Amino acid sequence: MEKVIIIGAGPSGLSAGIFLSRDKIPTLIIEKFSPGGNMLLTEIIENYPGFPDGISGFTLADNMRKQYLRFGGEIKTGEVEKIELNGNEKIVKMKNGEILKTDVLIIASGSSRKKLSVKGEEELVGKGVSYCAICDGAFFKNKEVAVVGGGDSALEESIYLTRFANSVYLIHRREKLRAKKYLQEEAKNNKKIKFILPYIVKEIKGKEKVEGLVLENTLNHEIIDLKVDGIFISAGQKPNTDFINGIVKTDNNGFIIVNEKMETNIPGIFACGDVIKKSLYQIITAASEGMIAAFFAEKYLENL
Ligand code: NAP
Repeated sequence: MEKVIIIGAGPSGLSAGIFLSRDKIPTLIIEKFSPGGNMLLTEIIENYPGFPDGISGFTLADNMRKQYLRFGGEIKTGEVEKIELNGNEKIVKMKNGEILKTDVLIIASGSSRKKLSVKGEEELVGKGVSYCAICDGAFFKNKEVAVVGGGDSALEESIYLTRFANSVYLIHRREKLRAKKYLQEEAKNNKKIKFILPYIVKEIKGKEKVEGLVLENTLNHEIIDLKVDGIFISAGQKPNTDFINGIVKTDNNGFIIVNEKMETNIPGIFACGDVIKKSLYQIITAASEGMIAAFFAEKYLENL
């Protein structure tokens, strides 16, 4: 029986783990991939306090991981299939058949990129369709690429991709971008970035690899073809909640509903970071929500 299990080793899960293990509460973090979550998809983080010159997403993730391990926390690699309840006991069933039991569960499983669900997308993943510029950008040296989306991620990725690509076409469904002003300015001042607004992708064309896109103007419905070698899809996030088994309450989009103590509707189950419904999705907010979840998880344990 574990005291606390945290699902997810992004900034919120690691920060909850640091708080708890420093207070000598045995803590296990379960992580599907590498610790760091979406920080690993960010080249340079410039708005996390304490790093005047910015810090790479990889280094910040690795520092948080080391800080957690220094206090005796444990990390297990694996994927949670579903959670169940047995009275106060929380049961975590892993995809490999392992079953773990705990008094307190903190869900910090983050979010993943949404798909466009258009023709050609699924077939051409890894053949020019990508959801991560940091991972795949270098394959597009001197090529033409498109980025879909008008949020912070789409703008950051477009700017990053200009290091490799000849041209980056930013395709967004509205004329107004959602991204922060400073990112919009930087993208507009970059000669390699060309804005294609307001358009949606109707189809990704290509047999063995991406060869082009069919785009539709969302105002006058004009159809155009765009020749590109790659497309980076940055059209928002969906919460990673497949395993919650209807136990914790979510909103209509699947984001977990918590109160200001990061408590869900189930006593002893907390949630924090990008998996929760909230108004600001940043590394700093995720980290602080992890601390809050850990603080109230400790209070819950004291009263058991
Ligand atoms: P986001 O802010 O939700 O933006 C998603 C973008 O994709 C929007 O422009 C949206 O269009 C568009 N979109 C959604 N569905 C689409 C579809 N089916 N077809 C075409 N376009 C579609 O997502 P994000 O950029 O991944 O950012 C997620 C969160 O992380 C945000 O809160 C963001 O502020 C934060 N973040 C912050 C930083 C930073 O501070 N440097 C960096 C990255 C992310 P509409 O605008 O029309 O809805």
